[in-house]
Amino acid sequence: MKQIEVINNLSKIIGLDQNSIDVYNTFKNVEKAINNNEISTEIDTEINNILNGMCFRIKETREVSIVFGKKYIDTYNPNSSFHYTILIHEFKHAYDYLLDKSTVVDSSPKAFHLKELSALKIEAELIKYYLFDKFNLTEIEKYILQSYEADNLDSASTLIQDDSSSIFLFFDKLEADYLSKYVSKDVIISNLIQKGHSLLNDYYYAIDEMSILLHSIRISSYHKYLNGIIRIIGDGNKNSWLEFNKNNPQIEKLFKSMDELLCRNYKVHMQYMNNLYSFWEMDILNNLKKC
Ligand SMILES: [Zn+2]
Repeated sequence: MKQIEVINNLSKIIGLDQNSIDVYNTFKNVEKAINNNEISTEIDTEINNILNGMCFRIKETREVSIVFGKKYIDTYNPNSSFHYTILIHEFKHAYDYLLDKSTVVDSSPKAFHLKELSALKIEAELIKYYLFDKFNLTEIEKYILQSYEADNLDSASTLIQDDSSSIFLFFDKLEADYLSKYVSKDVIISNLIQKGHSLLNDYYYAIDEMSILLHSIRISSYHKYLNGIIRIIGDGNKNSWLEFNKNNPQIEKLFKSMDELLCRNYKVHMQYMNNLYSFWEMDILNNLKKC
């Protein structure tokens, strides 16, 4: 089976090297679970690209499997780094499942973000510690590595997962500080206003298309997570959002400005994202020709 060949080849690359303990433990534990038939592998003929060429699936029967897209399998070459990068991403989801079966089923935006961010982080560590010197990296892998080293994966999460990790962490910290009574509601509100204005300024002063896109996605993340924090600092009843806005017109104004901006630019940004994903996919295919 080709999928076992891919796993065996990554096993040889990792070997006993524990430069990233996360990569090492994840790989070894999931490899063992596959050998024990605790996790199965399968091929999906419907997945016809390499960029999103694999997934981790929990079926209604509770059977869990690592799914390899047909295109991934058909294009696999032992010298293609990207095939291993995407494999370790799905292995991370599988490992999270092995550690705590309830976390994988939790579909809240927060749980989803954390799950995808940790899978992106393990991709970065595989690239940095195991693939960097030995393979001809693709553009998306270079981007992930650069973002891992420069901004703690914020730009990579923004472009690849369409959600900014720095904005997520900003809201996560505000929530934790508020719940632990470390800061007051007024401090939270003033932080929200300050952050919202700074995001809008960054967007309006950005000059190149890529920066505009990055700032726009950060605004979209802010817009998405604002609801959650208001529910927490509001009184928790159904009208809390309306009540809150009535009492905090600056937040309401910010929310509306962001809403308008995101609606106005939706088509252009989607087009730019599609072009970027096509560029990465083409680059992976071109890279394969050199393997
Ligand atoms: Zn994922």
